[in-house]
Amino acid sequence: CGIVGYVGAKPAAPILVDGLARLEYRGYDSAGVAVLGPSEIRLHRDAVRVRELEASLPKRFAGKTGIGHTRWATHGVPSQRNAHPQLSADGRVAVVHNGIIDNASQLRAELAADGVELTSDTDTEVLAHLIARAHTSDTTTLEQAVLATLDRIEGTYGLAVLDRAHPDRIVVARNGSPIILGIGDREMHVASDTAALVRYTKQVVHLDDGELATLKADGYQTFTRDARTTKTAVTVDWDTS
Ligand code: GLU
Repeated sequence: CGIVGYVGAKPAAPILVDGLARLEYRGYDSAGVAVLGPSEIRLHRDAVRVRELEASLPKRFAGKTGIGHTRWATHGVPSQRNAHPQLSADGRVAVVHNGIIDNASQLRAELAADGVELTSDTDTEVLAHLIARAHTSDTTTLEQAVLATLDRIEGTYGLAVLDRAHPDRIVVARNGSPIILGIGDREMHVASDTAALVRYTKQVVHLDDGELATLKADGYQTFTRDARTTKTAVTVDWDTS
């Protein structure tokens, strides 16, 4: 339902929670955030309101890169294990996702047959496992792993991916569900709705369907399966929009 992400020099969790609160009007049944800690991805999620998620955040939930989600369940009941972010089995990759993966049950069966322990009932979980598994060698970039995964799925998505092995970035993708980059001063935001960006920047980039982006603190690059794309940020006048 709602996606937020941040990469920069500030603690990510308060920014993510603030963004999720601004997406609440869209409705949701669960909320969650993940941040890149010094050595691991830290996850906090449940079938709760955003303010309860915030109140129950662990004291030391430090990390300057992170993603967050408000979920409107389509596959699997509202519960802690079905809340996003969803993690890969090795804990290396975290994914938040809006939309529906149509061939999820087939992919879940394939992963299970391959020995992967599935820990949720969501369609989204397959994305985390597939991205982590596509990432087989040091020469495969996170971007290539995401592209390889998107080749295998059918359905709609806005998604944001965090990878412990690439702590400097978030990779996002859009197909049928909005993804908007918010360009800050040595920091980057992303959200599924401009409402979550208003407080931080007036410079935004709307991804098109079939487009992806890499966000780093010092900039962004948009691309498709075939090539880099050039997207100029547009200035939004929030007061009159
Ligand atoms: N299909 C996903 C799920 O049920 C995402 C739902 C959403 O867009 O919030 O977990």
